[in-house]
Amino acid sequence: MCGIIGYVGKNDAVKVLINGLKTLEYRGYDSAGIALKNKSIQVIKSVGKVSMLEDKLKTLDVIRANMGLAHTRWATHGKPSEVNAHPHVVGKVTIVHNGIIENAFELREKLEQEGVSFKTDTDTEVIAALINKYYDGDACDAIRKATDLVVGSYALGIMFDDEDYLYAIRKDSPLILGVGVDEYFMASDIAAIVNYTNKYMLLEEGEIAQISFEGINIYNSKKIVEKNILETSVVDEDKGKCGYKYYMLKEINEEPILVERAIKNFYEKIDEFPNLNDYEEIHIVACGSAMYAGMIGKTLIEENTNIQVVCEVASEYRYKRVFYNRKTLVIVISQSGETADTIAALRKAKANNIDTLAIVNVKGSTIARESKQQIYIEAGREVAVATTKAYILQVLVMALLSCKSALKLDLVKNDLEKLPRLLKEVIDRRDDYKKLAKKIFKSEDIFFIGRKIDYAISLEGSLKLKEISYIHSEAYQAGELKHGTISLIEENTPVLAIITDDDIKEKTLSNLEEVKARGALPIVICNEKIDGYQDEILLPKVSTFFQAVLVVPCLQLIAYEVAILRGCDVDKPRNLAKSVTVE
Ligand code: GLU
Repeated sequence: MCGIIGYVGKNDAVKVLINGLKTLEYRGYDSAGIALKNKSIQVIKSVGKVSMLEDKLKTLDVIRANMGLAHTRWATHGKPSEVNAHPHVVGKVTIVHNGIIENAFELREKLEQEGVSFKTDTDTEVIAALINKYYDGDACDAIRKATDLVVGSYALGIMFDDEDYLYAIRKDSPLILGVGVDEYFMASDIAAIVNYTNKYMLLEEGEIAQISFEGINIYNSKKIVEKNILETSVVDEDKGKCGYKYYMLKEINEEPILVERAIKNFYEKIDEFPNLNDYEEIHIVACGSAMYAGMIGKTLIEENTNIQVVCEVASEYRYKRVFYNRKTLVIVISQSGETADTIAALRKAKANNIDTLAIVNVKGSTIARESKQQIYIEAGREVAVATTKAYILQVLVMALLSCKSALKLDLVKNDLEKLPRLLKEVIDRRDDYKKLAKKIFKSEDIFFIGRKIDYAISLEGSLKLKEISYIHSEAYQAGELKHGTISLIEENTPVLAIITDDDIKEKTLSNLEEVKARGALPIVICNEKIDGYQDEILLPKVSTFFQAVLVVPCLQLIAYEVAILRGCDVDKPRNLAKSVTVE
């Protein structure tokens, strides 16, 4: 995934690049590095987060520079280490890369036979070696020859020892070009440069950008391409943690106000929301939490309309045989709008002439641009890597879409009016979640069970817990546990049963009794009092359409409290990245 920033201009490059990296850190944070160019190029790298690179820079004699490249990494090839951190240098070439080179192994073998020796385990070093091999003074030519041989995805920032330019090229990985006053940028995400400029250009696949102190030239083959300069309305929304210990907690606390605003926006733009009844079949395609928001949507649409819904993980959907009929709608859900697998799924639908709808947070993102219709969740910037507020808004949008299409909006008017207030009440019950967390935080395994909508809710509860606390957790359809997984239940294994759907409540309770009989610690999360359970969290009851909006924040906070008790870095869990722009 990784974040790339490149800078040429009037300001101190170190400052601009480090500030940019901090904004991009959500994209990966296992190591970071910077290359500064004055007369020569100085490369400084560090394992760990950007703050560690920053600390290291303070201890070194860093050259004064107005040009440079920087990178924060999410390793795909080669473990996170200083040597594998970017930028990589081969001969005259210094490079940062976001993506995966799928044929790196073959290319590396060939280059080794030609006498090239490699210092790192990364796929990136292979591109650097190829560009260096072809470089004889014509940078664009060398970059083209090298990238023509490469299979995979890349956004590249490149410098040459003997040129005062930065070069950029991309394929299936994001990279924009920023245009300031006497300063120019490349960045994986516009947020990294909005403190300097709101003007930017898009770099299309196949184009090479050449960035200098005078400006940016973009070449398509050998010709210069004229580009429109666009303006972004993105502002640096990161106002810090505002007194909260972690961004995650701050962002959970923003949910009520965002939900209130989203409901208001929905009524204002109600006619722009598509009517799902125009379609016979819906495919919802997404990854991670977005996919679980899709599972909520699937359940609600199928329960309330006559439309059949397939909900599929994007990394499978993109490669499997998919059956479309003429009246299929493909809904893709992605916070960043840059999720590589989801982009591929969207393109597959479009290639089959299927209507597409994106539920997305980031305006101007690839998914927002390429889908036929868009609904923006308007979550603002989410800094914590594990999603909370963006997920809740994805769920809310799915619920509103389903409800509108089922012609049931009149029935939920009261619930929608009180939803933000009830949500705030749920969030304010921190003590209940802390108490529960104390009971379960030492467990090795924790299970979530539920049926129908409660199962869809369980999926996100379980994912949040494992993401930030590193406790092994699984979500199961309550009735399915006994077909195998129940063998994992031991004395005191916590089993959290989500029980909000009246139609199926008794069945889930029977399943909870089955695990209790085998020693499990039963915990009930419900919306009506259930007798006989010591550990119960009773939440407000609303229409099934919106119940998830009240239950999931409770599960987010349980995960949060558990992670805190285990001493985890809640905002930046190990191995994760927020925007997954590699396959
Ligand atoms: N594949 C490259 C690596 O493993 C880049 C990964 C990234 O996008 O951070 O270093």
